[in-house]
Amino acid sequence: MYPVMLDVTDRRCLVVGGGGVALRKVQGLVEEGAAVTVVAPEVVAPLDEMAAKGEIELFKRGYRDGEAVGFALVFAATDDRAVNERVFGDADDAGIWVNVADVPDICSFHLPARVRRGPLQLAFGSQGEAPFAVARLRRLFEGRLGPEWAEWLGAAARFRNAVRDLGLNSTDSNEKFDLFFDATVDGDRLVARVPSENEEREWLHRAVDHRRPEEHRGDPESTGCLESGSGGGFVSLVGSGPGCPGLLTVRGLERLQDADAVVFDRLASVALPCDLAPTVELHPVGKVAGHHPIPQEEISVLLVRLAREGKRVVRLKGGDPYVFGRGGEEAEELEAAGIPFEVVPGVTSGVAALAWAGIPATHRRESVRLTLLTAHEAIKGDGEQVRWDLLAQDHNATLVGYMGVTALPNVVERLVAAGMNPQTPAAMIEQGTTAAQRSVVSTVSDLPRAVRDAGLEPPALFAIGPTVRHADRLDWYGARPLAFHRLLMTASSAELAKVLGHQGADVVVVPMPVTPAARVVMAALPLTGCVVRSRAEVDWLDEERENPGWDPRSPAWCLGGETAERAHERGWRRVIEVSDEIGCDDLVAQIASSREVG
Ligand code: SAH
Repeated sequence: MYPVMLDVTDRRCLVVGGGGVALRKVQGLVEEGAAVTVVAPEVVAPLDEMAAKGEIELFKRGYRDGEAVGFALVFAATDDRAVNERVFGDADDAGIWVNVADVPDICSFHLPARVRRGPLQLAFGSQGEAPFAVARLRRLFEGRLGPEWAEWLGAAARFRNAVRDLGLNSTDSNEKFDLFFDATVDGDRLVARVPSENEEREWLHRAVDHRRPEEHRGDPESTGCLESGSGGGFVSLVGSGPGCPGLLTVRGLERLQDADAVVFDRLASVALPCDLAPTVELHPVGKVAGHHPIPQEEISVLLVRLAREGKRVVRLKGGDPYVFGRGGEEAEELEAAGIPFEVVPGVTSGVAALAWAGIPATHRRESVRLTLLTAHEAIKGDGEQVRWDLLAQDHNATLVGYMGVTALPNVVERLVAAGMNPQTPAAMIEQGTTAAQRSVVSTVSDLPRAVRDAGLEPPALFAIGPTVRHADRLDWYGARPLAFHRLLMTASSAELAKVLGHQGADVVVVPMPVTPAARVVMAALPLTGCVVRSRAEVDWLDEERENPGWDPRSPAWCLGGETAERAHERGWRRVIEVSDEIGCDDLVAQIASSREVG
């Protein structure tokens, strides 16, 4: 079924039938200016009246064979199936579009249900399959769309003409249209308003800004949002969560999507949305291979500078910004510089990494206190800041140590010296909640050796306390078929990505062409493979072979022979051809069996 809106002005339309159903069709057509002929032996009174006023042509008799020919549109609305079929047959033979009321199998078109506000029309159809559902949907929208939409559309039409008169190119015109739409439509509540003349004038004459086309969305004048003062500059200190991209908060995601600039740490980069607009400035400030991290003072200077340029800045920090991330210091600098800011908390690694490793942070009766410790700081100097004696003797508690790899032997020594039972269960978790997670479980006295043997490296944290003993039994993450897999896919496979994600994989879904944000996300952690569905996807991903996270030597599941052939042509090393009709379960099984994990 192909929807169209027909201009029926002065077109000859035939309606066969004279009851209520026919009447509604006639009224609809007459409203639109059609020249309507009605044929029926008997008609309801309003049809008689319309004929008397000359609004329609009325023949009070039965339908005559062949009469449909010569009309633009034909409607049969009698209660006699034989008559309806004759009308349909005549019209259809003559190539005329014909609708038989309530008999979908002899119709060459259906009439959608409509909601109308002036020139604005919404049409709903179900290909004739569920008219009741369509009728109810129509009622729903009838109730939701206020009368203001008619006027709004009028204003939109005027605005369009005014923009056209400016003679802009289509990008610049669209920017103006965005200004109009975003300021006048509340999409959540489905309400619209007519802008003032001043507003319209302002939009029309505002300089077109190519550098930051998204900027006007947050314009304080049009939306009255919070970033007033400081020229609109504003900083959100956002916690990215511990590493699993899904653990970014909804508000954090919103702030990223609205940002002009993002200043991010290495641990936080996994949480960047891959489809972040390429116009958003990306400032990595964390430690990247071979480079020293940017000193804290310079980060603060950068934040202040960006905000003073009037930008909406997201400072994306691993875990929670106020948990050992020096977020407090950054907030102080912003406050001192008079930059408005907010904090969007995040899921801290000290809780989330434990969960991924099967360790409840607290547990009724077993652990009634949770201590978050910065191990690195705690062992500095004479250690006066930490009451090791209290920590050591608090049996029903969990002690989580951040930045704990190098400090671990020292911490353990102090705890045991202060009276901790050397047999207390303890674990170290590296890269928790990510596909690169590794962990060891031991006793507190043996943990330093176990960590050394396993070669665990930062970022990692330790947990000491009775709840660690659950790690094996509650290892829900490791039990997932695709745990420890980080797979690259393109946005065209969003549904499949979801399925693989449910099976435990960290799926990096990149838009084509690949965006700068997606490149950062790809590089954040090693990808263990990719799933590709077309030659074009192979070509796009091949361009990314220099990305440190992606290696065309890792397995590529290619759906369909052509895709596999292309991957071979491109020199990919582990090309695994799978039928493009493969079921999700089979694909999951194939991917799961491809890798030694643990
Ligand atoms: N603000 C962060 C912590 C920053 S300090 C948070 O709330 O999580 C950096 C330390 O956090 C690392 O040295 C490590 O100890 C810990 N950490 C961060 N992410 C981690 C992860 N995914 N797995 C294990 N430890 C992590």
